[in-house]
Amino acid sequence: MAYNYFDKLDSVAQGRYSTKLVLINSDECPYKFPAGVWKNNPSCWPDLQFGDVYSYLIDSPGIFTRASMKSYKSLDAHNYFQSGWVQTVYSYKPATSAYTILKADVRPSQRLNEEPHHPWVALSGDGSVAVAHCNCMAGLAESCSHIAALLFKVEAAVRLGYTTKLCTELPCKWNADFVKKSSSLTWHEQRIGRITSSVVYSVLHTDFNNPAPSLLKTLCNPSSKSLDHVPAIHWGKENEKVALHQYSATMKTQHQHFNMSSAGFLISKETPFIGASADSVASCSCHGNRVIEVKCPFSHKESTLQEYVKDPSSCIVANGREVKTTHKYYYQIQLHMYVHDVNLCDLVIYTSKVTAIFLYFTQ
Ligand SMILES: [Zn+2]
Ligand SMILES: [Zn+2]
Repeated sequence: MAYNYFDKLDSVAQGRYSTKLVLINSDECPYKFPAGVWKNNPSCWPDLQFGDVYSYLIDSPGIFTRASMKSYKSLDAHNYFQSGWVQTVYSYKPATSAYTILKADVRPSQRLNEEPHHPWVALSGDGSVAVAHCNCMAGLAESCSHIAALLFKVEAAVRLGYTTKLCTELPCKWNADFVKKSSSLTWHEQRIGRITSSVVYSVLHTDFNNPAPSLLKTLCNPSSKSLDHVPAIHWGKENEKVALHQYSATMKTQHQHFNMSSAGFLISKETPFIGASADSVASCSCHGNRVIEVKCPFSHKESTLQEYVKDPSSCIVANGREVKTTHKYYYQIQLHMYVHDVNLCDLVIYTSKVTAIFLYFTQ
């Protein structure tokens, strides 16, 4: 949230905002509190009851009325909370104030790249809502869906007993986890139950009448844990961009109107249980569309291409030109080409010594 939020308001809004700060005996705008004072600790939250939420929302000028609160579960604000768009709630009780300030970022929609809204609320010790503010507010409104969504989350925590627990680990986890984190969560969710390039080889090499339990487990619950601490994964991620950059620079000199873009997660139109996250996609006017597969073999990070090809575990045939049809990567390439409906794949092998490009065609 912008540190200079207050300075950017017009004079009328500044006056209103200052009044709120006076009401809670705070000399400083909560948007200016140092990051270090905010804590994820529901046991510090006042005892906010539904009645407190109700009274604040219908009594303060804004979008909420007695009638709309009657079916509060159908409100946008309640939906924001239910959908996990209220991020981790942080609290702080300034020494000069009798109020506890709670804040959270609230995402405006399922479009995860949109800038979130920044509501804060000040609760008195008994849980009643004294003051609330949100940077989305216009005119004289004193409440908005983002404030209400934040209040709904805090009310749920109180109701579920998370604010009275002596053991703080579970409530803090609930607070942080009841959140749609980033596009990677959606990406992760989309992979659940689908055959993707990381499992296609194993799927085609298991006994269909008696599939390996570990494979079924991977399919139904693909790991969402970051593996960035694994050196080979780290190396691959670090160098994939470099490889793609060098690949694109080379291709531009050899093809007409060469254009590369990121691919995202694509689900097969014909067989929706198959999905692909190709490393990139590209097109040129001389050859058309293709998918790009980048491999940065960690065990060969210092190797020349000849050294890599000589290794029996390499994906390239000894002639140095073709992809081995028995190799795991071959299955990945086939799957990516199928899902993207192209018959061309550029396989990029990257080591610190070489960036080699192999074209793979199907007829
Ligand atoms: Zn708002
Ligand atoms: Zn071309």
